[in-house]
Amino acid sequence: MTTPENKKAGEMKPGTLLAQALGTIEPVYGELVPPVHFATTYERAEDGSYPRGRVYGRDQNPSYDQAEQVLARLEGGEEALLFASGMAAATAVFLALSPGDHVVAPKVMYWALRKWLMETGTRLGLKVELVDADDIDAIARAVKPGRTKLVWLETPANPTWIVTDIAAAADIARKAGAALAVDSTVATPILTRPIEHGADIVMHAATKYLNGHSDVLAGALIAARKDEFWARVRGNRPGIGGILGPMEAWLLLRGMRTLHLRVAQASRSAAAIAAFCQTHAGCIGVLYPGLPNSPGHAAAARQMQGGFGGMLSIRTKGGEQGAFKVAAALQLFKRATSLGGVESLVEHRASIEGAGSPAPPDLLRLSVGIEETDDLIADLDRALNTVR
Ligand SMILES: *Cc1c(COP(=O)(O)O)cnc(C)c1O
Repeated sequence: MTTPENKKAGEMKPGTLLAQALGTIEPVYGELVPPVHFATTYERAEDGSYPRGRVYGRDQNPSYDQAEQVLARLEGGEEALLFASGMAAATAVFLALSPGDHVVAPKVMYWALRKWLMETGTRLGLKVELVDADDIDAIARAVKPGRTKLVWLETPANPTWIVTDIAAAADIARKAGAALAVDSTVATPILTRPIEHGADIVMHAATKYLNGHSDVLAGALIAARKDEFWARVRGNRPGIGGILGPMEAWLLLRGMRTLHLRVAQASRSAAAIAAFCQTHAGCIGVLYPGLPNSPGHAAAARQMQGGFGGMLSIRTKGGEQGAFKVAAALQLFKRATSLGGVESLVEHRASIEGAGSPAPPDLLRLSVGIEETDDLIADLDRALNTVR
């Protein structure tokens, strides 16, 4: 693969970078679209060396290269790695720690990862402390200089969309000698670039916005720099073997080419939907960092550019029953888990997360897709009228 415009790409805006996927041309046939590489093994030279640099398909498949280069450039990092899922990417970071290491993580975060951390992570010897991550003083109190090795953040955080000030948290982590990792799935590199605010590692559930079409499971990590901790994280990909298939890597790159357009449309609609629901009699609360009266708005405005994302939650009248009634009455918003796809989704989080969920029983999470805003608002209006 050649990237003739390598230097200029650094000056490009994210949308140009994404649409062209760095302008890479395949060298043999001049293809604008990369081939998919299915080989699991690579030829050795007569002297036993590997002059082309690749040995085995776990994890040296060239199908990853272009998507990883685009992600590294988008996030302003030195290196990016694709994984088989967001969970595979996130756990590769925690598994680079040692027994006894102290970890600070949010109370409100992607529930399956919190569950893994509290069950498997602690069983492997990690000392995990969960904090209210929208309170920077709580993070400062929890972080122990010399003992805390990792501060994990998710912002905006599932499913209440609280916001953590990344720069303030990075300052605390750096002074204590801890690495800072940010699950930036919801913000995407279009709205927030955590490395610019001091993060060491950025994580994405690429299943969500990066791919954007609800048809690929993938994860990604981006490192600010290739340091010792990153070398251990990196080693966990072939070590655990949680690698992405070549076809999925190809689909992911195709999905990423329209990321900027999808995120812009979803953010615009989500902002309009949040404002609409706030005034609707069937709705008793809206959780969205884009609302000026939201507690996380000031921090969000500092670290999010061009919008506040396509995720919000609404609290319906009538408690849990009301929430189920509204979800059942929606027609465009499909009742399903996941987020960041082109189609809008609605989900009752308390019932899927189970015990320990921070979601109140009347909360519905909305993943706003790229449909026309007015149609989505009309759908919500109709459904919320059933409980007003
Ligand atoms: C979905 C999600 C994950 C997990 O990603 P998978 O690809 O489903 O493994 C992690 N964090 C956030 C914020 C997510 O939305």
